[in-house]
Amino acid sequence: MSLFYWMRNDKVAAARYSADFDAGHKWGLPGLKNCPGCGATWSEAGHEYPAVDLSLIPEHAEFEEHRPEPLHEFLRLQALVRPLAPPHAELPPGTKFGPLEGRASGQFGPFTWLGNSLMLIRRDALDGLQSAGIRGLLGCKTELRFRQKTPPDILELQIEPRGLLHRDCLPPDLDPPCPTCGRQAFRRPDDPILDLASLPTDTDLFRLDNFSTMIIGTDRFKDAVEQGGWTGISFRELPVRS
Ligand SMILES: [Zn+2]
Repeated sequence: MSLFYWMRNDKVAAARYSADFDAGHKWGLPGLKNCPGCGATWSEAGHEYPAVDLSLIPEHAEFEEHRPEPLHEFLRLQALVRPLAPPHAELPPGTKFGPLEGRASGQFGPFTWLGNSLMLIRRDALDGLQSAGIRGLLGCKTELRFRQKTPPDILELQIEPRGLLHRDCLPPDLDPPCPTCGRQAFRRPDDPILDLASLPTDTDLFRLDNFSTMIIGTDRFKDAVEQGGWTGISFRELPVRS
């Protein structure tokens, strides 16, 4: 059986590079305003589909402005995107699409993070991981504007939600998800545990469905990264429970 690691920004490794960028995705679903079921106004980070190109639909301009919308308007926009998204994508409020746009400068390491939930990869590291047989890597072009003359070749990985945090590591009094909008809010547990039955067996890289800012890699992924000498990720093994 695979081992699973929670992957985050390795700040010590990052300090060796001068990479600096300020960027966001080109399109996004709005937040949800005043859900008629739970009353919440919310959107969620960590649902990012850089490979999904909304320029293919005539309404793409409606996805360019960050704002909350009432349920009926949110559902209308979600339905427009659905045919372009991967088949099982949940597409909650705040889901992002399309290339990362913005300005960038400096030298980029093999892995560079925006926060702890968005991972950029240099082309040579992506090619190396693919040659090593790592599964589930989808490198997507970015539209970063570099100041230097020979910009690095930087891609974003589309990492899809696949597995779950185990019920045992969540608050015991946690309410079930809102039946109307699906919201289930809780803080990230200090000691996350993965739910064995929910974990994918066909990919080495994924996010958690019920905590999508957490990126998980297998021991195959970790070993290949370490053998390649590609720095920028800190790995923490997580226990798995059935
Ligand atoms: Zn709700």
